[in-house]
Amino acid sequence: MNLRQKDRIGFRQVVPDEWCFSCDVCCRFPEKDSFLAPCFTQDEMNAAREKNPPLPPFNSCKITLTPYKEGFICPAFDPTAAHCKIYDIRPVDCMLYPFAIMWDAAGQEIVLGIDTKCPYVRKHQEDSLIKEASGEIADAIESPPLLDILSTNKGLIGPYQDDVIPVVALKTLTSKF
Ligand code: SF4
Repeated sequence: MNLRQKDRIGFRQVVPDEWCFSCDVCCRFPEKDSFLAPCFTQDEMNAAREKNPPLPPFNSCKITLTPYKEGFICPAFDPTAAHCKIYDIRPVDCMLYPFAIMWDAAGQEIVLGIDTKCPYVRKHQEDSLIKEASGEIADAIESPPLLDILSTNKGLIGPYQDDVIPVVALKTLTSKF
């Protein structure tokens, strides 16, 4: 699937821009080898590599994080403007956030979760908008073309995180593993 097709996937953005612009969670990481660093598919890496200035090499599917202040940032992140420099071609892993795809605590089933590291989610996790979006995103994940992308890029399925609230079991995706 090429990026032009991927762009049509589209996800409802549940977090208002004003929350994102005043937040310091996204795109920043505590450790250089954080498992939360975004995972890119091969097509996404190829497109990102064409950006100028080029991004540093990838480690498997993970982008190599850059030191910044006490921690690390995604090299595509401009911390001054709080802006993704590759927003138009950002990976599906980032498009999904604050939703996340991960294994459940038992490691038996893949679930869609919502990340309470996001301050907006902590305050609005019970809102109907988030519940509606969960269903829409789960439907997209369980259908082509996203199902095909996820089932062939297992790096996009994260480990269980106890601060990510499972909201929908992804049975079709689980059956692919
Ligand atoms: S690719 Fe963009 S949205 Fe994703 S972590 Fe990097 S800066 Fe943030």
